[in-house]
Amino acid sequence: MSRTVVVTGGAAGIGRGAVERFVAEGDQVVVLDRDADALAALSDELGVRGVAVDVGDRDSLAVAAQEVSSVDALVCAAGIQRYGTVVDTPASVYDEVMAVNVGGVFFACQAFVPKVSRGGSVVVVASVQAYAAQKSVAAYSMGKGALLSLVRAMAVDHAADGIRVNAVCPGSVDTPMLRTSAAQFGGGRSTDDVVAEWGRSHPLGRVATPGEVAEVIHFLASPAAAFVTGADVKVDGGLTAGLAVVL
Ligand code: NAD
Repeated sequence: MSRTVVVTGGAAGIGRGAVERFVAEGDQVVVLDRDADALAALSDELGVRGVAVDVGDRDSLAVAAQEVSSVDALVCAAGIQRYGTVVDTPASVYDEVMAVNVGGVFFACQAFVPKVSRGGSVVVVASVQAYAAQKSVAAYSMGKGALLSLVRAMAVDHAADGIRVNAVCPGSVDTPMLRTSAAQFGGGRSTDDVVAEWGRSHPLGRVATPGEVAEVIHFLASPAAAFVTGADVKVDGGLTAGLAVVL
C-alpha cells in the first residue's frame, strides 16, 4: 500500500538515500530541503514533490506542513556539520548548529506529527557522535545527543496516538557532508584516500553507503518495526562497539 512519507534533507546524502528507498516501494514522497536546484533535479528524476524549506526556520516548516493532509512517516535527515571545541566555537556557529540540527528536528516534528496517522512513525537521523565524540565537534555532538533525548520523550508522548519514534545513529557515511570534511581535513590528500582511512577506523573497515542507512530508516518506518519505539539504532560498522586496533 502506497504511503505518504516526508523527508527533510532529502535532496542529498542519507536523506536522498531514504527518498530513493521509499520511492522504490511506490510511496509518495515529499522532500523538504533548502537546496532548491537539487530539489528540482530530484523531482524530475524520481517524481517526488519538493518543497524548498530551511529547517532552521520554524515558520517555514509550519507553512510546508499545510501542503500535506496526512503523513505515514516523517524522516528528519537535514543536518549540518560544524567543527570547534567548546572554547573556539563562535556563538553564531553554535546558534546555527542548534537551529538546524536540533530546532530543525523539534519544529519539523511540531509541524508534521499532528498529521502523522495512527500506525505511522518518525525516524530521526542522529549520529554515533551522540555517544562518542571525535575531536572538535562540541556543538554537533551536543545536538545529536539532544536528539536522542527528544526521540525518547516523543516515543512516550505519542505512543497512545499509535505513533512510533526512533533514531538511527550512523557512523561515517559517504555523502557530500563527509567528503566536504575529508577535503577540509585531508591535508592535501585525495578525498578518496581520506574517506578510506576514516573507513578503517570502523571495525567493518569502511564507511557506509547512504543506502545502507536508508535500509534501517525504512525498516524503522515500516510495520515490520511495529514494537520498536524510543530506540536509537546504531548503523556504524561497529565503530562504537570497540576499538579498530590492528594487532
Ligand atoms: P549532506 O550534507 O550530504 O546532505 C544533507 C542534506 O540536507 C542536503 O540536501 C542539504 O541541502 C540539506 N540541508 C542541510 N541543512 C538544511 C537546512 N537548514 N534546511 C533544509 N535542508 C538542509 O549530509 P549527510 O551526510 O547526508 O547527513 C544527513 C544527516 O545525517 C545529518 O543530520 C548528519 O548530521 C547525519 N549524519 C551524517 C553522517 C555522515 O558521515 N555523513 C554520520 C552521522 C550522522
